[in-house]
Amino acid sequence: MEKVTDNVFVETKVRGSNPAYVVTSDGTVVIDTPQLPTRAVAMRKEVESWGPVRYVINTEHHVDHIFGNYYFRGAGTVVHHQGVYDNFMTVYPELDPFEYAREALPDDPGGEELFPDRDEYYRDPNKGQVVFTGDLTLRVGNHTFNLLHTPGHTPGQIAVHVPEERVVFTGDTIFNDCQTWLMTSDVDEWLRSLDRIRSLDVDHVVPGHGPVTTLGYVNKQRAILMEWKSAVADAIAQGWSREETIERVNFADRFPVDVGQEYMMDYIQSLNAGSLYDKLIAVPAKVY
Ligand SMILES: [Zn+2]
Repeated sequence: MEKVTDNVFVETKVRGSNPAYVVTSDGTVVIDTPQLPTRAVAMRKEVESWGPVRYVINTEHHVDHIFGNYYFRGAGTVVHHQGVYDNFMTVYPELDPFEYAREALPDDPGGEELFPDRDEYYRDPNKGQVVFTGDLTLRVGNHTFNLLHTPGHTPGQIAVHVPEERVVFTGDTIFNDCQTWLMTSDVDEWLRSLDRIRSLDVDHVVPGHGPVTTLGYVNKQRAILMEWKSAVADAIAQGWSREETIERVNFADRFPVDVGQEYMMDYIQSLNAGSLYDKLIAVPAKVY
């Protein structure tokens, strides 16, 4: 795994999110778990070689950030936001998350033998033992882990700020140089959460997808969200139907999809445009 600072390690080049860990004077802390079974097992081994796992923190409830929790059963206390606990594994209501996890297996030779059957998985997917709302601070050895509620991409989204390493792990609040998944997101909340991240004093930003970056990228992510939103608002202003909007509003040429998920490009474009259309055209229950 890539070394970001003396105590921070992250994997950004494998299918799935960017799982990471921090080495402290009193054990290790994992932030998001690999989706691919062999990677999850290998990461656990690597992390435990530095010391026992104290906590496994998840930044959100999507498959690619939490499926690997299954392979960390018995290793540390799982910590995540109430919103992660409540929506565990659900990517999009129509998508079967367990099948979606299985779909990645061709990218993981050896993964099949480690892949649980459905019942076995759901018996203990290793969900949160510490479940919180708002923010939470964990102190482990000489390190501080500020778990900041940064909703938008998902309701239970958090960023993990480790001031001693001058690092923030943003989860999918930042997609660096790859396609942004909006889906069930609240874009306005997301923009406010980017402001919160922008206010931190850090040198390294570990995104949910794509290479490690710096705080400067926050403004780019903000521009991407605003572009999507204004393009769909424009479509509605032109009187385009939902289908026309999906057909015409498209940012596929902007970035590739994150590693291993290239085949999802059309799905991302249609769902981003469609979900924004539904949100922007809806009339709030009370308008004064
Ligand atoms: Zn996500």
